[in-house]
Amino acid sequence: MRRRVTFSRNVTLSLSRTCVSHCKYCAFATHRAHLHEPEEVERLLDSAARRHVKELLVLTGDEPGHHPGVREKLARLGFADFVAYVVWCCERALERGLLPHTNLGALGRADLARLREVTASQGLMLESLRPDLVAHQASPTKDPALRLRTLRAAEELKIPFTSGILVGIGESEEDRMAALEALAGYSNVQEVILQNFVPHRRYYGAEPAEIATAAAESYWRTGLHEGPDVPAPEWSSPVTVADMERLVAEARRQLPGAGIQVPPNLADWWPRLVAAGATDLGGLSANGDHISPEHPFPSPHQVRKQLAADGVALTERLCVYPRFIDPEWLGQGVLDVIKARFWSFIPRRGSGRTDGPKGALRPDTIARARGGQPLALSEVTALFAETRPEAIEDMRQAADELRAELAGDTVTFVVNRNLNVSNVCIVGCAFCGFGQGRRSPDAYTHERAEFVGRIRAAVEYGATELCVQSGIHPDWTLEDYESWLRLAKETASQLHLHAYSPMEVAHMCDRAGLPPDEVFARLRAAGLDSVPGTAAEVLHDGVRERISPNKLPAARWVEIVEAAHRAGLRSTVTVMFGHIEEPHELAEHMRVVRALQERTGGFTEFVPLSFIPFNTLLGRTHGIEEISREENLKHTAAFRLALGKSVPSLQASWVKMGLDAATEALRWGVNDLGGTLMEESISRMAGSYHGVKLDPGDLVGAAHRAGRPAAERTTLYEIRRRYPLAAAA
Ligand code: SF4
Repeated sequence: MRRRVTFSRNVTLSLSRTCVSHCKYCAFATHRAHLHEPEEVERLLDSAARRHVKELLVLTGDEPGHHPGVREKLARLGFADFVAYVVWCCERALERGLLPHTNLGALGRADLARLREVTASQGLMLESLRPDLVAHQASPTKDPALRLRTLRAAEELKIPFTSGILVGIGESEEDRMAALEALAGYSNVQEVILQNFVPHRRYYGAEPAEIATAAAESYWRTGLHEGPDVPAPEWSSPVTVADMERLVAEARRQLPGAGIQVPPNLADWWPRLVAAGATDLGGLSANGDHISPEHPFPSPHQVRKQLAADGVALTERLCVYPRFIDPEWLGQGVLDVIKARFWSFIPRRGSGRTDGPKGALRPDTIARARGGQPLALSEVTALFAETRPEAIEDMRQAADELRAELAGDTVTFVVNRNLNVSNVCIVGCAFCGFGQGRRSPDAYTHERAEFVGRIRAAVEYGATELCVQSGIHPDWTLEDYESWLRLAKETASQLHLHAYSPMEVAHMCDRAGLPPDEVFARLRAAGLDSVPGTAAEVLHDGVRERISPNKLPAARWVEIVEAAHRAGLRSTVTVMFGHIEEPHELAEHMRVVRALQERTGGFTEFVPLSFIPFNTLLGRTHGIEEISREENLKHTAAFRLALGKSVPSLQASWVKMGLDAATEALRWGVNDLGGTLMEESISRMAGSYHGVKLDPGDLVGAAHRAGRPAAERTTLYEIRRRYPLAAAA
């Protein structure tokens, strides 16, 4: 799978910098009474909410309440103690849809429990296991035993926890490894921070939060930043990138289930640490790093650009890691905010249940699906939700038998060319990495000469089909769409023109003020031969409202495709899955597709398209990972079973799942490997890494590897050339 690196879109609240300890490396702490007023807190929260920040990071000195001045201020504000004030801040954050993550230093069990009710996660750096570091002299709260006790109490209270080590504060390599080993002993550690020490100047009389915010604002605006060069103190120990790489590797080994965080603001070596296996870049806080104020975080945009060059995608996470988003680990109030605001981050947990009215796979469902009988919505839901390996194997076998009965053993493909004339689009689907605003530097629209040149290249290559689709260009009229078809036919009349998604047709109807029947009559006259059944996504308006609210509703999609079939144009039908949809929503999609096919018989094939998250808004900001190969294959079988005998051909998309998985899918109900494509912009721009072109020989080879004969077909499934198995020898 392609690699993702995560970050949390957060804002930092340094509620009190008053600290009981005197760590030599710290520029954050003060030993005077410091406490932000409630009005300041609310202002920060309001501005964070406006900017769609997801996490409030509450940072404080250790035990600020030890200071009489802080206690006095708390009493004036009506809080019994400092933790009560933090709880109040967290409640205000939750009200605004921000998830609190607190880092208050070493705490006792009672305080951890109070915070658990209002935080999504908590944190405490272990820093080091060494009790005798010079840097920690006069710092009673840096006692490693005390900090490990906090971690243990948090584990017992089931609090998702972030910890980590400081590197370069006078410890040896063995000390670092021992600290990692200690952290590996806690089941609640969701993430380990490997933080290299960077020397700071002293900030007497200044406010680090203000310095941090100013530095961050300037860096995010200009992209330019140079940190101060402060000599290393005597008690520190040198740190090299090789040291950090070894630590990343060891952290991965010791804590395989945890995120490995490296700060991208403390050294420019962080891309090497990502290459070594680091999985997270921390907060990228918009108001800077309050601990190292003159080292602002780069902006997500800056980081994304740098990672893209290495083929790594940057995506958001919540402060609580997915496996802890569960009632066992989170307070109800926090879970409610996640369900209401960040539902897409909740990991899918297939039901696998065998009881209950919904999601239960009835014993005879697979047999009836194999026989082609229609299934109830709840039964199709159960197929998509199934997790039991033996039931999934039964689904695979039934789908494979159904494929053999309906489509035979021959694996077909079409030699075609995709041609995306323009990627300018006004719709803005959250799952799309292809559509661009007109002014985007990545926007393009082909000239007519370019269009003709690409068609000629397709003919030379031996293509029989041209598949033309574009973004929804605000300037294009029905006449423009007709003219592309005419130009294609003038250039190569023998090519089958498979063109225009139902969304494009809806746009033509709107622009021309004509019903779909009349639009299709005109497109046919201009040369249209068949229609791609794209823009279907999931034919359930609840899903469509969440992922593409500006796109045509499900009923309009059906209306347009039905009009195409009425006009004598066959179409394919697609589904885009593996994002935020639920099994019952996919079941509804299959109900709509099957009902339409029973009315018109116009679908040539069903094409499952798994979601490519990497360069899309939905993937970046909603925490969606690429669907696993196993889930992809299970869904493939479920699609075949849900279709019954209504649509004989089921395709695997090698662009989405890779040729290897597509070849495996031939055992899961698939009989067709789609097209050679020649160019593929839609998935490529969303971050697909499976290539843009395959030769017929690649597809023939895949079929033969699966032990099946192959054949080149036309768009409408006439066989052009056979590649029997013996020919493979
Ligand atoms: S999916 Fe199609 S309609 Fe949606 S933004 Fe992308 S190009 Fe535009």
